[in-house]
Amino acid sequence: MGNGGNDAQTIGDRTLGFDAYRRILALIMTNEIPPDARINIDRLAQELDVSATPVREALTRLEDDGLVAKTHLKGYRTTAILTAQQLDDLYGLRVLLEPPSAGAAALHATDADLAGIRRELETYSKSPFTNDLLSYARFSEHDARLHALIVRAAGNPAVSHALDRTHFHLHAFRLSSDQPAGETAIVEHARIVEAIAARDLDEATAAMREHLEASRARFLPRAV
Ligand SMILES: [Zn+2]
Repeated sequence: MGNGGNDAQTIGDRTLGFDAYRRILALIMTNEIPPDARINIDRLAQELDVSATPVREALTRLEDDGLVAKTHLKGYRTTAILTAQQLDDLYGLRVLLEPPSAGAAALHATDADLAGIRRELETYSKSPFTNDLLSYARFSEHDARLHALIVRAAGNPAVSHALDRTHFHLHAFRLSSDQPAGETAIVEHARIVEAIAARDLDEATAAMREHLEASRARFLPRAV
């Protein structure tokens, strides 16, 4: 189990709305609510055994994630999954921003940044790999946290914010529900983290670029 890696989670988040958000997010991620489908707020509230208010609050958060969209008069729909072109475009953005960020992290990461990055890397590399959905969901969340920590260590909040706003991992995850867990990605991650720890700007930049290109090649065939 985790040992305090999620300290960003605040008590203020433990509201009915946040709980409803987590549950509806899971329904969308597992396609129990399919892509591009109408959302019936009353039925959903009934299913979750809550009032319509936390469901509406949850839908606002999900709209922020790009997973639902408000439709004219008719309430909410889940968004369609990414096309291959949209996925390729998002990788294009990541390739522009993340390799230089990894390089900057090699120069600017504090000891606390490095400790956090290492802790995240090690937490996952000790986990057993299986190919079920839960395991893949855990990998996807780990990957999102690790990349966010590296970009944050580069010290440019505007870049961090721009990448967060893409919600890349949520959208990539929806492309297929039976993904192999990322054993190859773990090896690639270790190379990036070692380069940052060694304060090697060129190697950190190259390792991140190669990881993203390999990830793009693994993911693109899953989109249409
Ligand atoms: Zn990764």
